[in-house]
Amino acid sequence: MPDALEDALRQHFGFADFREGQRAIVEHLLAGRGALVIMPTGGGKSLCYQLPALLLPGVTLVVSPLIALMKDQVDALAEHDLPATFVNSTLSLEETGRRLDGLAKGAFKLVYVAPERFKNERFLAALARARVSLFAVDEAHCISQWGHDFRPDYMRLREAIDRTGHPTVAAFTATATPRVRKDIIAQLRLEEGQEFFIGFDRRNLFFRIERTGRAEEKVDVVLDTIERFGLVEKGKPARHGSAIVYCATRKNVDLVHETLRHSRIPAIAYHAGMADGKRKEVQDLFMEDEAPVVVATNAFGLGIDKPDIRAVLHYDIPGSLEAYYQEAGRSGRDGEPAECPLLFGSADVRTQEFFIDMANPTRVTIERVFDFVRRSKEETPEVDFASLGGDRSQAVSVEAAVKLLEMEGMLLRLASETRSWDEGSGNGLRRAREESVRVRVLDRGPLRMDFARLAAKRRNDEERLARMVQYAHGTGCRRRFILDHFGDLSAPATCTACDACVAPESTSRREPTEDEAVLLQKVLSCVVRMRGRFGRERVVQVLRGSRSEKVLSNGLDRLSTYGLLRDCSTDFIGEVIDALVEAECLKVELGDGKYPKLEITPLGNEVMHRRKSVPLALPGSSVSPQTRPYGRTTSGSALHGRTTNGPGLLGLSSARQSLDAYRRLGHLDRVAAERGLVRSTIVTHLVVCLDSGEEVDIAPTLPAPRRARIEEAIRRSGQVALAAPVKSLLPSDYTWEEIRLTLAAWRRNAGAAAEGG
Ligand code: ADP
Ligand code: ZN
Repeated sequence: MPDALEDALRQHFGFADFREGQRAIVEHLLAGRGALVIMPTGGGKSLCYQLPALLLPGVTLVVSPLIALMKDQVDALAEHDLPATFVNSTLSLEETGRRLDGLAKGAFKLVYVAPERFKNERFLAALARARVSLFAVDEAHCISQWGHDFRPDYMRLREAIDRTGHPTVAAFTATATPRVRKDIIAQLRLEEGQEFFIGFDRRNLFFRIERTGRAEEKVDVVLDTIERFGLVEKGKPARHGSAIVYCATRKNVDLVHETLRHSRIPAIAYHAGMADGKRKEVQDLFMEDEAPVVVATNAFGLGIDKPDIRAVLHYDIPGSLEAYYQEAGRSGRDGEPAECPLLFGSADVRTQEFFIDMANPTRVTIERVFDFVRRSKEETPEVDFASLGGDRSQAVSVEAAVKLLEMEGMLLRLASETRSWDEGSGNGLRRAREESVRVRVLDRGPLRMDFARLAAKRRNDEERLARMVQYAHGTGCRRRFILDHFGDLSAPATCTACDACVAPESTSRREPTEDEAVLLQKVLSCVVRMRGRFGRERVVQVLRGSRSEKVLSNGLDRLSTYGLLRDCSTDFIGEVIDALVEAECLKVELGDGKYPKLEITPLGNEVMHRRKSVPLALPGSSVSPQTRPYGRTTSGSALHGRTTNGPGLLGLSSARQSLDAYRRLGHLDRVAAERGLVRSTIVTHLVVCLDSGEEVDIAPTLPAPRRARIEEAIRRSGQVALAAPVKSLLPSDYTWEEIRLTLAAWRRNAGAAAEGG
């Protein structure tokens, strides 16, 4: 017999059943308890607040940065007999006034608002008169500075909630690391344990990595993908399915767009530098299947809810795994297979490093900007980004400085809200469409700024990039890497949709020819001579006989392998090294240093001595750079990475509570029951505790012989960050849970040993 909730679900939304998690969340919110909901894209988050909105006495407020989606959502709700509206900058003053009146009078059950509304006194006044039952925060990761899409306006939400008479608070996100989740809980003052973790896995998405820095090869992958999904027929849109190609810069957007055009692909370009009208036009063409391929910066997509996107390609590496997963996750919302290739040339990392520089303005820049507004005679001075930055390239860092000053309460930006809100993520970097901003000076000094915190934020940005780069260099399961990053242990062990799992012997791998075998020998022996102390870039330089200062000062020009491949391009040698890494003849040691180092493996040793031959994905030819207009790979420094499993990075207080309970109860299931969390979350908590240096006795959950066996596999896997390589060395009855706990305990003990001397 269906109950009242199911009745409402059927009657108002036309759905037969709840999806995973929905019922529990709805019941929880109806009981007036706050929650943080983590659900993958397409999982059905909106229903979790729409259904309560219908049943609760007052109004439900939904905070969302996705202005472009609000109207459609409201229109759809009207069909479900749910009186809803939205308030954002697209409305006239009169219309806004009417809606605010309606809000105050209780005319609506659901109201969507953009976060910058909470700066608006009229809105706050209307809110104070309204009866708000539920305060839903969508894209809740935007509240955290540790996230990839921090939006300062979200920081006002808690205050707004308090001024609204303490409604139930519900936060939703599809992309948040454990650290970001902890931050959401703290900032919205949700209670620990009110976390609904449905997981992040998107089974229908195929993840793969194509390692190439060359524009032609990258475009080939794009063309191949378009063809395989049949998105274009005879130069015309096939009108079923579409693809997005994300580039890091406008320059690359133009380049790729033009190249595709030359190949008779009806692609269109999109970036934040285009006029509003033009951008709207591109969006509409895309939504209406008139344009099957959009080449865009990350400004594109936030307002896009197209179910049949068959592929999201990353032409350049994004700044973090969170950004990558969020963007890639726009594909396959309809549940049908979709593909997410990352086209990785290690030189591309430089672009992201530049973005990090821009997003983290120096003390000098911040002081200059503050000095300017402080001295201004105007009440609302205009900050011109380019002129204060000294030159155009610095404009973005001035914009970032203004944001920081606003966060410290020194000033208030009076920017128009559409301009910032329908733009992309990534520290607001590629949002420099505005040339200037008017600000109201709140405090003329002295300057308050927590520079230590800024330094921490910069480190965090760098670590996230390093993690992304680590993904790009990975050889294990892509899905597992991503899910591990998000602390999602719930997903199944088997993956059938990533290039590492599905085609380990990929067709591009082949037996080397005799010449190539000699070439491999040269490269491998060079690595051996460099004694595992240097990274990819340095190895390439030595083989090419570079006179660079780093080479000479280390005496590397005296090695017998110096200049052995003088005639090969930097690119080519780099790709040979990548192929050797992929074939596990070389390994990238992240070790303790900042830069990853190359080392030979036992298998590589066999290959070097020509005792064995392995198939490799070798580049086609070693011809010099002239024939390759774009390909300049000079990575190495780009690889700086360390595992982010290190202490201090992940959230702790909820984890500590789980640890306390575990120490008392000694059994994961009992802890899970007591904490009202799923078992896998408790495991994550224990891993977090171990990684932060806590002592956790895993013996009660893991018999010693099993642990010994796992430790043996860890040793053989040669790394301590990821569970997948370890799992692959064990019989299938060893669970992820056991492996992760053992790995974390191992890391902790290794760390403790290092500190002890
Ligand atoms: P999210 O915000 O988590 O990405 P949405 O709320 O947009 O996901 O929901 C994704 C799709 O799933 C929508 O088309 C929605 O109508 C549908 N959906 C949500 N809940 C259910 C359900 N219980 N049964 C069937 N379809 C559902
Ligand atoms: Zn996989």
